[in-house]
Amino acid sequence: MAVDHPSGIDEIPEPSSSRRELLPRTVVVIGAGPSGLAAARELERAGHRVTVLEEQDAVAGKCRSVDVDGRAYDLGGHICTNQYVRTAELVTELDVETERTSRYRVIDAAGATASRQAMAFLRDTEAFGRYRALREREFPRIAEPGLAHSARALSAPVGRWLADHGLESMADSFGTGWTAAGYGHLDDGVPALYFVKYAEMTGLLTPGSGLLGHEGAFTVVGGFGALWGRVADELKDVRCAVRVTSVERRPDGVRVHTDSGPVEADDLVLAVPLDRVLAVLDATEEERDLAARIRTHAYHTTLATAPGLPADAFYFLAAHTASRASRGHCVSYHHRYPDTEVRTFYSYGRPEDVSTLLADDVAGLGGRLAEVHLERAWAFMPHFAGADLAAGALERLDALQGHNHTYHVGGLPAFELIECAVAHAQDLARRHFPTPGGTLTS
Ligand SMILES: Cc1cc2nc3c(=O)[nH]c(=O)nc-3n(C[C@H](O)[C@H](O)[C@H](O)COP(=O)(O)OP(=O)(O)OC[C@H]3O[C@@H](n4cnc5c(N)ncnc54)[C@H](O)[C@@H]3O)c2cc1C
Repeated sequence: MAVDHPSGIDEIPEPSSSRRELLPRTVVVIGAGPSGLAAARELERAGHRVTVLEEQDAVAGKCRSVDVDGRAYDLGGHICTNQYVRTAELVTELDVETERTSRYRVIDAAGATASRQAMAFLRDTEAFGRYRALREREFPRIAEPGLAHSARALSAPVGRWLADHGLESMADSFGTGWTAAGYGHLDDGVPALYFVKYAEMTGLLTPGSGLLGHEGAFTVVGGFGALWGRVADELKDVRCAVRVTSVERRPDGVRVHTDSGPVEADDLVLAVPLDRVLAVLDATEEERDLAARIRTHAYHTTLATAPGLPADAFYFLAAHTASRASRGHCVSYHHRYPDTEVRTFYSYGRPEDVSTLLADDVAGLGGRLAEVHLERAWAFMPHFAGADLAAGALERLDALQGHNHTYHVGGLPAFELIECAVAHAQDLARRHFPTPGGTLTS
């Protein structure tokens, strides 16, 4: 029987015995992006039985790749840094081929010159030293999987936090890349937590040895989607193009109703942010309240043939990354294959503005938008506002793990980067679903 929880959660009581034999569990995972697939892989390897449900016709989520004229283009996540240890392990275990990523260049505000990113912060010994001391004192666990451990210390808006700590050179060095990658503008009030996590994950603050034989960043040959396809191929039960119509959680387990029949399981892993499944979930008051606080950025990928532009690099556009007033304009583009004119463009804002402004932005840089192959809008970077972080929203989400047989992975608890999603999902699976056969003493 469900019992009332002080915070409004209908909690399902644990078995009363103090010594439980660990039995294989059945688990349904909703969402086949990196988080859901990493969790499912970990669960299956530990001996549990897993069904993954994905609403799209293919796996990979925001790491999907598509083919144009025989070349693979990544629509979303694909750049891995020297901090991507778990991703590199996965790549090695699945014997997936990797290659170095394109170089980065910043096109100046006038659109006249392209130069390397200014990394003055790393040479600014005073400011960098101040950052390191601040990190040690206030958010020493920032590099560990998850975000809750550092949320309260970094709940201030990033622009203010950087100014308060005299870290303007950090803003100069990381702000352009941060904005170009979809995380927001430094003047839009996103909490410092996310900026600092991003900066740490670039690997530039804590240079380590490279991974998989690459000195710098690496990616998957043939598109990042291929990695997730390989993970899914090894799993026993991954179902794509399935619509979840309702989720019922009871004391003895979970029943997920879909347009192709119900799936019963002991436990449920939500590998999608709560707000994306709220309409079908028998949600508690606590879940509803947290879901209502989730924010995302409207971020877009446009895959297009556009000759005449600066080539053979990942370009950040200084003119449109400096302020949120430029929303709608293209903030970056990637020219991956020098022998084609196909590029992936990235923009924030309303879809109608993005498609209108892209042709102008391309023309402004001396190019021509010849053919748009595909446009994709993302609800990017699920996150909480500063006031919610300060009030403990991420700790509340963590406290929900296991309640009503339900677990949460993905960008909201982990941060919107592949490595963060994978590491958090793997750790959650290892912590909450031990290998069957042993005993658990509580
Ligand atoms: C343009 C772009 C560029 C990026 N670049 C990088 C990069 O270079 N490096 C990097 O590390 N990261 C990058 N990222 C971020 C990275 O792709 C994400 O952090 C990662 O994909 C998150 O994985 P996830 O499984 O948590 O979520 P997602 O990848 O969003 O997967 C969630 C899955 O759940 C499915 N789903 C949603 N609702 C339902 C439902 N109701 N029922 C069933 N299924 C559902 C979705 O279809 C999706 O397949 C980028 C993302 C984008 C969009």
